[in-house]
Amino acid sequence: MSTCTLCVLHEKRTQTVFARGNPLSELCFIGEGPGEDEDEQGLPFVGKAGQLLDKMISAMGLSTTEDVYICNIVKCRPPGNRNPLPPEVTACAPYLTEQLDLVRPKVIVTLGNVPLKALFGVDGITKLRGSWRVYKGSIPVMPTYHPAYVLRNPSPQVKGEVWKDLREVLKQLGRQLPPRSSG
Ligand code: URA
Repeated sequence: MSTCTLCVLHEKRTQTVFARGNPLSELCFIGEGPGEDEDEQGLPFVGKAGQLLDKMISAMGLSTTEDVYICNIVKCRPPGNRNPLPPEVTACAPYLTEQLDLVRPKVIVTLGNVPLKALFGVDGITKLRGSWRVYKGSIPVMPTYHPAYVLRNPSPQVKGEVWKDLREVLKQLGRQLPPRSSG
């Protein structure tokens, strides 16, 4: 994948960004695409949004290195952090398909609108978050807000909705529910 030239995003990338976490874990988070920090470091979710994602994972009582697998819809940074365009999403889709076939997570969490649209062809995270969907007929998917959205809108309501979604995920995994986080 590191030499991929299937779409224009390869022209401006520093490097491809594949995944971080444990490929044998039961829980997979999918974001939209690398930002500046991720493009520099070659790992997904290592900037501000990533720090919040890690906090969310820790608040679930999970390890960010052992218990989760984290990746994106597109593997190269869209210039200026714009959303990836449909041809870029389409060109990159086989990589994610193969990733998910290998990891075979028990649950997937999609972060924000881009993965929701890419995996299910639907728009509107505000309405669709919190309701289970199914990937490839077998893997439950919980759509929730992107951590960058939570950083821009840190209201108790938005944080409460994300926490509710993550508690559903823990229930689905048969994991112990931690008490309501104060953060
Ligand atoms: N936002 C994303 O969607 N993915 C990243 O890897 C970083 C920020």
